Amino acid sequence: MKVVFFGPPGSGKGTQAIKFAQRFRNPHLSTGDILRKAIEEGTETGLKAKSLMDAGQLIPDSDIVAIVRDRISQSDCQSGFILDGFPRTLEQAHDLERFLKGHSEELDYVFEFKVPTELLIERITGRFSCKKCGAAYHPTMNPTKVADVCDRCGSSDFMKREDDTLDTVKGRIAVYEGQAQPLLSYYSRLGVCASIDAVGSVEEVFNRVIKSIEK
Ligand code: ADP
Repeated sequence: MKVVFFGPPGSGKGTQAIKFAQRFRNPHLSTGDILRKAIEEGTETGLKAKSLMDAGQLIPDSDIVAIVRDRISQSDCQSGFILDGFPRTLEQAHDLERFLKGHSEELDYVFEFKVPTELLIERITGRFSCKKCGAAYHPTMNPTKVADVCDRCGSSDFMKREDDTLDTVKGRIAVYEGQAQPLLSYYSRLGVCASIDAVGSVEEVFNRVIKSIEK
């Protein structure tokens, strides 16, 4: 399956994309994760991306498109992939379509995640994750079962993303809103867009995603 998870920051698309990737046994490709790894490793791409990401701005289309093309060309992506955080601009969507057409392929679904802005801000400014295994939590909406212990791996080493501050979050949501409409119109015309109400528990939202496919 070739699928795009699309939505504002904090809409839960990353969590859902991981679950979806596990269910359908396709690799989960998060461009945000790829860039954060590049920053951690101190690569040239990472150095270039860091200040833009810290400011909540998009990195240039040409850079991200090259990263995604390279990744989806790898052998584990031949039977499908779950894109999370890409495409984010019309130019990126056009490039993805050109790439897929060149391989006689096309996207199966684009899931659009919808959440009211106030809830996005509450979710993101509170969220934190396990440094060891990446499991995501929120102090009130999704706390760890035992205080300060990761449910999944037992670690007590947690982190917050540097771009999850209130100002940056507002900027990232504005960037999303500036890009979303043309992209959604484009994917609606292609007939692959499914709109998902992303307010609710992880399981409830996941069931909506699966139902939208069954339709
Ligand atoms: P979120 O969706 O919560 O904002 P991501 O982890 O998807 O978080 O992205 C974090 C940052 O990485 C973005 O704010 C942007 O700077 C950069 N980034 C990720 N994907 C892209 C992309 N497709 N195009 C440009 N920049 C990107």
